[in-house]
Amino acid sequence: MSVIRQNLQAVQRRIGEAADNAQRPANSIALLAVSKTFGADAVIDAASTGQRAFGENYLQEALDKMTSVQTERPDLKLEWHFIGPIQSNKTRPIATHFDWVHAVDREKIAQRLSDQRPIDMPPLNVCLQVNISGEASKSGLSPDDVPEVARRVAAMPRLRLRGLMAIPEATDDPQQQRVPFRQMHDLFSRLQAEGLPIDTLSMGMSGDLDAAIAEGATIVRIGSAIFGARDYAKQ
Ligand SMILES: *Cc1c(COP(=O)(O)O)cnc(C)c1O
Repeated sequence: MSVIRQNLQAVQRRIGEAADNAQRPANSIALLAVSKTFGADAVIDAASTGQRAFGENYLQEALDKMTSVQTERPDLKLEWHFIGPIQSNKTRPIATHFDWVHAVDREKIAQRLSDQRPIDMPPLNVCLQVNISGEASKSGLSPDDVPEVARRVAAMPRLRLRGLMAIPEATDDPQQQRVPFRQMHDLFSRLQAEGLPIDTLSMGMSGDLDAAIAEGATIVRIGSAIFGARDYAKQ
């Protein structure tokens, strides 16, 4: 069995254990395989285990990879998630080629995605990115601004607001990891209580997926634990 397939099984076991510990059904957590910097062959290998959802950060790399996968394996129906920062001049190809966008952090970007989502496609699934650790260097809405923006985005006709996404400040301490994830869950619950029909908390990566699941993540975005270390020099 390939390394990628072994890694995928190990990650699925880890998700299952974290779900058990949190007394949550394992199928309440979706695995997004983050394939950035890896080629179409890696995606096809992962897809051979049944993995269908893939996350990408870099638009041109993603579009090229989609074309290669489609050419080699036209039978594969994959779900593509754009998880990187979004420049406003790149919204049209994102709205045209992806099923999900995780890192919407401005109303203006959401408006463009809605305006540009092709009418023959289902509404684009979006999450609002929250700068939960308040890091100056990170993108994302401040938690205070989220409810207002969420209401506006939820009303956009060609988008389906699914929930919230965060990349908290990195720490190795599992207890510390849980703090921002818990704050995200609180914010998420508050929006639901206000009547927004959201169902997604996109949080947790290779180093902190267990803490994220303990605090209610419904999508974990996993790259290196599946595909190995990234070599950005190859880009
Ligand atoms: C790269 C990336 C991931 C995956 O990170 P790993 O630590 O490799 O699991 C998840 N989310 C986002 C937004 C990323 O950019």
